[in-house]
Amino acid sequence: MASSTPRSWDPASGLDGVDRALVVIAHPDDAEFGAAGTIAGWTAAGVDVRYLVMTDGASGSQDPDMNRKLLAANRHLEQTAACKLLGVTDLEWGGYLDGWLEPSLEARRIVAAAIRRHRPQIVLTLDPEMRITPRGSINHPDHRAVGDLVMHCINPAASTRLWDPTLLEEGLEPWDIRELWLMGFGAGPDRVDVTETFETKIAALRCHVSQLGERDPEPWLREMAARAGAEVAVDLAETFRILRW
Ligand SMILES: [Zn+2]
Repeated sequence: MASSTPRSWDPASGLDGVDRALVVIAHPDDAEFGAAGTIAGWTAAGVDVRYLVMTDGASGSQDPDMNRKLLAANRHLEQTAACKLLGVTDLEWGGYLDGWLEPSLEARRIVAAAIRRHRPQIVLTLDPEMRITPRGSINHPDHRAVGDLVMHCINPAASTRLWDPTLLEEGLEPWDIRELWLMGFGAGPDRVDVTETFETKIAALRCHVSQLGERDPEPWLREMAARAGAEVAVDLAETFRILRW
């Protein structure tokens, strides 16, 4: 990811004309790790925020007593609880298996339909260019796939009228978004002050009990947010790359 000078996002002007946002992620918990402080700020400001989670999260366990069906059910409940806590109004599932998501045309149609249905000004997703995470691990291929899917919808699947006429038959007219937000997990040039909403973020993250086990996510997330915040003179910040049209 190209480095550039960090800049602050201004919540007053930044939400001007924004009343709907769509969060498109690969797994339950992706948005809570990367963006829940920002999302809590948006819902508090009256933005109608919805989630589309493309996979069932059913690979996220090394417990020999766990199976995919039970884990998918647990993760569905965990994501529902996190969304409720963040004030998210709707939660949709793409129906793919965790670890098996690809930027296919079939998956693209699901994301395009969600964008056309909700008509968001902002779409928030994962960065398809992030092969290595800021912490030095290999980024999950589902994360890059979902970022690619979203980009392929902005141009052309959601925005081009005749991309798939069956969408029109379902009453889903084309839609152009205004901003694409890519979660940075500590990287990326754009900073959102989440000092006020950080506790809500942690509470939402703690809904994902199956993923956290005994681990407390707060110390390293707080450290990451403090480092990002220091670059723009706030206590705690989440990081993004924002594309505007
Ligand atoms: Zn994930």
